[in-house]
Amino acid sequence: MKFEDFNFVPALQEGLDTMGFTKPTPIQQEAIPHILSDKDLIACAQTGTGKTASYLLPLLHKIELEDHSHINTLILAPTRELALQIDQQIMGLAYFTGCTSIAVYGGGDGFSYEQQKRSLTDGVNIIVATPGRLIAHLTSGTINLDHLKHLVLDEADRMLDMGFYDDIVRIISYLPEQRQNLLFSATMPPKIRYLSKKILHNPVEVNIAISKPSEGILQQAYLVYDEEKNDLLSQILANSEYKSVIVFASRKETVKRLNSALNRKGILSEAFHSDLDQDSREDIMVRFKGKNLAVLVGTDVISRGIDVVGISLVVNYDVPPDPEDYIHRIGRTARAETTGTAITFINDKDQQKFGRIEDMLGNEVLKLSLPEGMRQGPNYNPKSRPKSNFNPKWKKNFKKKPNP
Ligand code: AMP
Repeated sequence: MKFEDFNFVPALQEGLDTMGFTKPTPIQQEAIPHILSDKDLIACAQTGTGKTASYLLPLLHKIELEDHSHINTLILAPTRELALQIDQQIMGLAYFTGCTSIAVYGGGDGFSYEQQKRSLTDGVNIIVATPGRLIAHLTSGTINLDHLKHLVLDEADRMLDMGFYDDIVRIISYLPEQRQNLLFSATMPPKIRYLSKKILHNPVEVNIAISKPSEGILQQAYLVYDEEKNDLLSQILANSEYKSVIVFASRKETVKRLNSALNRKGILSEAFHSDLDQDSREDIMVRFKGKNLAVLVGTDVISRGIDVVGISLVVNYDVPPDPEDYIHRIGRTARAETTGTAITFINDKDQQKFGRIEDMLGNEVLKLSLPEGMRQGPNYNPKSRPKSNFNPKWKKNFKKKPNP
């Protein structure tokens, strides 16, 4: 499936192209059609799955087709960090549309409150807010939500954990009855069910449960530039502890090139990819399963399905594009209650992708130092991610946001 299949307004598709999003993630594939057809929705999805864009894209599409002169959408988020992150994604995706947004959060000084107040009276289409600060603006009459059409509760479980239930109910009392409601939550405890019964009307339910990696997998990563990856891999493979190894790369050209490079270094390996005929595939798999072939280099075609017990090491020669693929790749080791190691090579360009994976895992993966004598790798800075989606070409005609 491609984003083009949703038929978004051209300005939004342009934003997607520039952000480099080509393929919708599973939550996006499931949620977007329901949101486009005006349904209320309750979605169970974790950070890292692409959940933010799963509601932003259909809402931005609608706002582009609707009246621009009022506050159209309210997104409630538990923390200032999340509110800012959502606002940054709006900036990227809505860049070519006429849609404007502002993040409204507490914790600042009186000056930032005044700034927010001015921006709000200037007129914006989307408000991304933490509940407490929004109430302050609502009670002082700064915000008029009479024309609101869509309400999103993001990370609803965390908002309830932080004690925002009463604030949410209070905020809703300021909203028109007729509106679309979307609730996103990483977990679905009874209190979320209760909240959804109170707020949503006949919601569609979408559940993207990402399986967690097995406890038996030791996950590690190296920050390493592309030029050093082959050298690092050879050094790792020289460790005799690893008897049965799969090395994953995203593109078959990389798989072929890497396999030849390993063979040249005297490492017996085979390349496994979609160009091979069935007989060659079967022959390679029989040798690998029978432990007559120690190293298999492959694309994601081997990340699903093959069930070989005793794989001691999985190496991600590059970071897979999707957190789900990461789980499938590293799940080739530590099968059937055994243990195994998964090592990922992160270059300077793949940090954002690895950040998504860590978000989904809920913890950071241990970064190892490169062996002595190797050029030091890039620094790890995955949080620079939303900005890295921007094309510098845009900057010169960057539309000014309303005043924050
Ligand atoms: P989220 O789960 O909303 O926190 O998203 C995590 C990250 O995934 C964000 O940095 C997004 O920029 C990125 N992202 C969302 N959708 C896609 C997609 N379809 N393709 C590539 N990256 C995406």
